[in-house]
Parts: sequence; structure tokens; C-alpha cells
Amino acid sequence: MRRRVVVIGAGIVGVSVARWLTRFEDLEVVVVDKEPDVGWGVTKANTSIIHPCHEEDPGRWPVRARLCVRGHRLWYDWVRELDIPARWPGEVIVAKTEEELARISKYVDVARELGIPGVRFIDREELIKMEPAVNPDNVGGLLAKTAGLISPMKAAVAIAENAAANGAKFLLEARVRDIIVEGGAVKGVVTDRGVLEADVAVNAAGVWADKVAEMAGVRDYRIRPRRGQYAVFSDKVGPKPGLILHTAPTPKTKGVYAITTVDGNLMVGPTAEDLPDEGREAREVTAEGIRFVLEQAAKILKSLPPRRKIIRTFAGIRPEPSGGDFIIRFHEEPWGFVEAAGIRSPGLTAAPAIGEEVARLVSEALGGLRERVDWVAVREGIPHPAAMPRHERDELIRRAPEYGRIICTCRKVSEGEVIEAIERARALGAKLTLDGIKFRVGAMYGDCQGSQCRAHIAYLIWRRYGVPPWELTLNKEGSRYALAPIKALLRGGEG
Ligand SMILES: Cc1cc2nc3c(=O)[nH]c(=O)nc-3n(C[C@H](O)[C@H](O)[C@H](O)COP(=O)(O)OP(=O)(O)OC[C@H]3O[C@@H](n4cnc5c(N)ncnc54)[C@H](O)[C@@H]3O)c2cc1C
Repeated sequence: MRRRVVVIGAGIVGVSVARWLTRFEDLEVVVVDKEPDVGWGVTKANTSIIHPCHEEDPGRWPVRARLCVRGHRLWYDWVRELDIPARWPGEVIVAKTEEELARISKYVDVARELGIPGVRFIDREELIKMEPAVNPDNVGGLLAKTAGLISPMKAAVAIAENAAANGAKFLLEARVRDIIVEGGAVKGVVTDRGVLEADVAVNAAGVWADKVAEMAGVRDYRIRPRRGQYAVFSDKVGPKPGLILHTAPTPKTKGVYAITTVDGNLMVGPTAEDLPDEGREAREVTAEGIRFVLEQAAKILKSLPPRRKIIRTFAGIRPEPSGGDFIIRFHEEPWGFVEAAGIRSPGLTAAPAIGEEVARLVSEALGGLRERVDWVAVREGIPHPAAMPRHERDELIRRAPEYGRIICTCRKVSEGEVIEAIERARALGAKLTLDGIKFRVGAMYGDCQGSQCRAHIAYLIWRRYGVPPWELTLNKEGSRYALAPIKALLRGGEG
């Protein structure tokens, strides 16, 4: 008999859980999310680092430390299997003073304890040699060679597509309102789009995890929102540090970073601001926040580009659990309620391992699950002709001419890529939105932030899919791209 697992939350954690669960023949996996697409919660806005994990003290946060290390290892396979853009440049915690160097020496001990290779001190001379963009006022730093960078949104989409290819179903724009518990066990999940029967419900609801837990009668932790703000510079300007650089961690955060993203932009941030309970979705950026990250970045880098070269600012919300550690458990009461909650940083790094752990808990509790022999590990990304060798690009364009028509000149994204992004989003059950396209192929993400190509993309969607611009949304409901047909507006009508 097949048993149904409903995963609440299609962030990096929920989709990783789903990917692991689809390995079992006897499970039907359904992922639900309140948003119109996957990855639009905490996953959308973070520093994008696959951490080396030497900052995760196993004495204080044993689950975080263990799953960070395991997740880091799994990402090497996952980026390859799932065609996720990634780089492994290594990182340095830069120190301004000898005292600061002494303070960060504890991470060498953590690295030793967790078996993390490539962690060692470097002096000023070696630091400057390794990273010419660094501010030479720093006295040295702590190198961690294994740090990597990925595109979190492309990762969430890739994992979701692979889970779907292995049979997982996605139910999006479906807010979970309640969890049905009968006779001490989970029986179903009530969503805006109907009731789903369930033998197991996995809580992977990010900043809302404690609220979802309350629906199952679990009230022993709280999630507090902590905002992080960032500034992203044009990809035309430097410096573009080869290494991931950051200031010394504080009790609240891993510090402020200066990185070159996988898309080739200098990005600096984040802040760490504790917000009130109602700030769980408060993604506003403040002048003070951006000023702070720029000041900190100036301590890390020799020089910063002028502020007018900032093309985008954004903020993400960390889900800080009251106990500090990740909460991963299978409840006996109510039986079948599983949690992957409080997944603050390094949750992106740990996500594949969190998925593995949840799948293990589910399989042990249900017992006797059979592994599929036809499980598919590999997923191919959307072809990007601009990055292909010439003969491959020519061949692709000969077969599909739409790949030869560039629609986003900043990022050199073709019509073919946009169409493929739309088709894949639809196949997943995601709503057709401009942000959904942006996150999948990078159109509208370059220097002009879509001011040139957004209208062309909207027109392409109208022509090909019959969705007029005034019905197209940027992202959530209420973010319509256009108001109405211009003639209707001129007539004073509503369209
Ligand atoms: C500023 C910042 C910087 C960070 N930097 C890093 C980093 O560099 N490296 C790293 O490893 N980690 C980093 N992290 C942490 C990492 O981003 C998170 O741990 C991770 O994204 C959490 O993923 P998640 O799937 O648990 O949450 P989410 O992505 O938020 O997913 C939860 C999903 O649940 C959905 N949901 C919530 N309530 C409901 C409901 N009632 N019904 C239906 N759906 C619901 C939401 O819509 C959301 O999509 C950072 C975080 C922040 C904020």
C-alpha cells in the first residue's frame, strides 16, 4: 500500500526532502506551498554560500554542525547531477587586528573536530597575494578552502524538477491552514486548494514553521525573524573578489560578505536585524541597512564601485529558532508529524543532508519501504547558448531558431530559454510569472533589471500563451505587470 507524505514548504529544504522521499517506491510525495512557485521564501534571498562549516560549533549546535558538513559533501554530487551553477573558490575571514585573529582561532579547532580540510591562518602578505582585491589594512585571515557558491533559486528549481520527474506532485498557491490529527496521528493537511489526505506531514515552512507546528499541536519553540540586507553591483564593475571574503562572525551572524556571485556581480551584505514577530515577511530595504553593509564591505575590499553602480538591493529573513539549533524530528504525538524547522544559516548548505535525515526518519517510522530501481538522479538545465561552444550553439539554433533570438541583452538570454522556462514552470504546476522566468534563466536580472526586456517578454507571453500583460503578474497576486489595454484606459474603462 502506498503512503502519502505531504511536505509543507517548497523552499530548498522542502524540495530536498521531496527529492530524497521519491527514492521510495511505496511513497506518494506531494509538496505544497502558499507561493505561486518554488523557492520564494527564505531560499530566494541569502548569501548563496555553501559553507565550509567551521563556524558551526558542534558543542552548541550539534545538529547544525553535523548536517552542514554532510550537506556540504552532498552538494558536490547534487550540482553535478542536477546541472546547478556553482563555483568552489574558498573563503577567508579577514581580520583587522591581531586581537581579531586570535578571536577567530577557535574556528580552527572546530574545523579539526568536524574533519573539515583546508582551514588555516594566512598572514597579510599571503592574503594580498591570494586576493588582490582585499583591503591591505587587514592583518591576515582564516582561509577555508572548501567554501562554494551556488545559485539558490536555480538550485531549488532544479531539485524540484528532479523530484517531479521522479513522481513528486507540487501544489502551489496552496496555503496550509490546518493539520488534521485523529486518534493521535496525522490524517491530512487542509490547504486553500482542498484537503490532502496524509499519513505523514513534513513541516518545512521556513519562517512560518512554528505556526505550522501549532496546527499540529506542537508549541515548544518559536521562530524569530532576523533580516539581512544586500546590495548588488553591475557586472560591468569591479572589484570582483575571486575568494569569498567576510568580516569576523558575531554572536548573531557569520559577518558581512563581499562575494562575486555565480552570475558575476559583486554582492555585499547582509545586515542582521532582529524584527518583531509580524516582520516575518518584512523584506524592505533601508538606507541605514545598505549604508552599513557598504561600510563593512569597505573594510574588506581595497575599493568599492561607486554607489550609482548598485543595480539591485534586496533583503531576506532568517528563521531563527529559539533554541539556536535546527529542529529535525519525527513526532510520536501526533504520530506522522515531522519537522525540518528553524533552518537558519547554514540551511542552504545543509539542505541536501536535512532531506536525507528526514527521509531516514520517515522510512524508519513507516518501515519496510522499498527503494526504487528506476529513480533518476540526473536533471538537465535549460541550455544557455551564450555560454556554449560555437558548434553546439549553431547546432541548437539550427534545430530551434528561438535560441538564436536574444531577448535579454544584459544577460544574453534567448527567447528559447524564456519559452523553456515557462514550459518547465507550467509542468511543475507553478504560476506563469515574470519572476519565475527571471529566477530560472536570469532574464531581467542584469544591469537594466528588465527595463529593456520585460516588455518584450510580456509580449512574447501574450503572443504565445494568450496571457495579456494586464493579466500577467511580476510575482504574487496583486503585482500585475500592466494595468489594462491602453485604449480601455483612454476610454476610462477598466479593460
Ligand atoms: C540573509 C540570509 C543569508 C543567508 N545566507 C546563507 C548562506 O550563505 N548559506 C547557507 O547555507 N544558508 C544561508 N542562509 C540560510 C538559508 O537561506 C535558509 O536556511 C534556507 O533557505 C531555509 O530554507 P527553507 O526551505 O527552510 O525555508 P523557505 O525557503 O522559507 O521555504 C519555506 C516555504 O514554506 C512556505 N510556507 C510557509 N508557511 C506555509 C503555509 N502555511 N502553507 C504553505 N506553505 C507555507 C513558504 O512560502 C516557503 O516557500 C541565509 C539566510 C538569510 C535570510
